[in-house]
Amino acid sequence: MSIRLPSQWHDREMHWHAHRSTTVTTTKLRRHHTPTAVLYTPAGGATWLANTIAAHSTDAVAVEWGTPWGVLIDTPGSDRERGEYALAHGGSVDALVLTTTGQLYLYLDPYNPEQCPEHRPQDTSVV
Ligand SMILES: [Zn+2]
Repeated sequence: MSIRLPSQWHDREMHWHAHRSTTVTTTKLRRHHTPTAVLYTPAGGATWLANTIAAHSTDAVAVEWGTPWGVLIDTPGSDRERGEYALAHGGSVDALVLTTTGQLYLYLDPYNPEQCPEHRPQDTSVV
């Protein structure tokens, strides 16, 4: 991949809490829940989202990626690439999977070490 990623996430030592829910929730609420996964790189976050969507896409009627307002992405790219870019920018990314039986909301919330001292990237080279 040739997209030049922003370095905000690295400078701020951010990590992301991944959550999945069948209802709309807020960042504030999710804070108090144990994340489904903890991701330490934008690529890891985007991959988690893409894989989780794929795992539920057998009966998906629509998939919608949400990237934060104000993050300018000048490359067309795929949803996954745009998601990775937004995460590298220090943003949050969410996705909504609509299926014939219901809906699934996926969230990636960014945290820096002050906001969440609990998780430390032990090996940042792992994607
Ligand atoms: Zn954390």
